[in-house]
Amino acid sequence: MRYLSTRGGMPPARFTEILLGGLAPDGGLVVPEAYPRVDAARLARWRRLSYAELAFEILRLYIDDIPGADLRELVARTYTARTFGSEEITPLRALEPGLHLLRLSNGPTLAFKDVAMQLLGHLFEYVLAKEGRELNILGATSGDTGSAAEHAMRGRRGIRVFMLSPHGRMSPFQTAQMFSLDDPNIFNIAVDGVFDDCQDMVKAVSADLAFKQRYAIGTVNSINWARVVAQVVYYFKAWFAATTDDSQRVSFAVPSGNFGNVLAGHIARAMGLPIARLVVATNENDVLDEFFRSGRYRPRAAAETHQTSSPSMDISKASNFERFVYDLVGRDPARVSALWRALDERGEFDLAGTPEFARLADYGFVSGASTHADRLATIRETRARYGVTIDTHTADGVRVAQRWREPGVPMICLETAQPAKFADAIREAIGEEAPRPPGYEDLENRPQRFERMGADVGALQRFIAERCAAGGAAQGPAAKRG
Ligand SMILES: *Cc1c(COP(=O)(O)O)cnc(C)c1O
Repeated sequence: MRYLSTRGGMPPARFTEILLGGLAPDGGLVVPEAYPRVDAARLARWRRLSYAELAFEILRLYIDDIPGADLRELVARTYTARTFGSEEITPLRALEPGLHLLRLSNGPTLAFKDVAMQLLGHLFEYVLAKEGRELNILGATSGDTGSAAEHAMRGRRGIRVFMLSPHGRMSPFQTAQMFSLDDPNIFNIAVDGVFDDCQDMVKAVSADLAFKQRYAIGTVNSINWARVVAQVVYYFKAWFAATTDDSQRVSFAVPSGNFGNVLAGHIARAMGLPIARLVVATNENDVLDEFFRSGRYRPRAAAETHQTSSPSMDISKASNFERFVYDLVGRDPARVSALWRALDERGEFDLAGTPEFARLADYGFVSGASTHADRLATIRETRARYGVTIDTHTADGVRVAQRWREPGVPMICLETAQPAKFADAIREAIGEEAPRPPGYEDLENRPQRFERMGADVGALQRFIAERCAAGGAAQGPAAKRG
């Protein structure tokens, strides 16, 4: 399998060459040259596989420069009942006939990002060791991504994580998830400022090419291809769990922000999985809903981006969207380049009236948006009718899914986080505390460790340089958590 850029300006590369990135040198995104097709006979054989076995079968179609036995071993160590709470890894729960919840948030940080990030931790450690390299992951977070990355990279040999967050602005639960880690390779930096200040500091350090090279600075953001492909697996797993016969179609409803999760559904469908609809659900930040309804893609300014009760979907543009548009325009890099040039120049592009937009229906995409009141009502209804408490992100998906159900086609709603992470909204919706899974009862009371810093790029660079010079941590004892 070779990887190309959506804008055509990258020599073909192998998986391990693109593993640490996602952004191509020409500004496009890295994509596989083709989606391998899975025929009905193979699909039927896969039905009885465990999650880890299925993940191996799918991943090896995209990863052919890691020996099969090694990949199988990495995947087996990633998808364990110990890390994800059950042998099923992503269990499917029926709410009523034809309506299901796919539970993706039983990993260590209680959000679906763990499913891909945990694999990334194992892959990074393996490839860095092979190449005798180290990596310093630098990131900015306002919640889910940072904690998933830290929990995936903790104790990993050859890797340090420097994670910036706005001081005092994350929820107590999310803060504790990050700051209570005591692994010597994890560095939490609480910045006096807002999330954008943190992101600007990361950008400034990454733009200092000499520093970036000298200290092997990398990221784990949502455009990382390995994260996308790891997510393809649970669409297959869910389809097996919801069907008994190999031609039955199902639909998926996906709470969406950066378009990484639902892109994985699109890829599963392109590989031959019988998916009827892919329901893109957004909150008030409805960039994607606007596109799928009208053909107009219009990223928003920071001032136009709303802070909502489903904060992990508060995006101004959808960073993975370019990968879907590449497929939509017939994988034509010149066309993608022209569209993104228009985006740079005019701040939007519009496919209304084009043959591409007419083809959109062939891809199964439909969409909808929810409001805060919609999400609270959906949390209440889901609790009353099915006895299940869902979080605000999942509620957004369940809400929009209702509009797109079809007789005879099961609708699978992706649960992207557990309610315990968003306790305030749950209290507002049902007047009760969100249920907490075992092991998290005392989370906020554990000792916390972090470095407080002004929004000062020089100070950040000195901090990174000192920690690297101190050595130790990145070569330290091998994976604490096995
Ligand atoms: C990241 C996240 C999303 C959005 O996923 P995308 O892949 O960015 O579309 C939705 N819900 C939760 C809880 C998340 O953490």
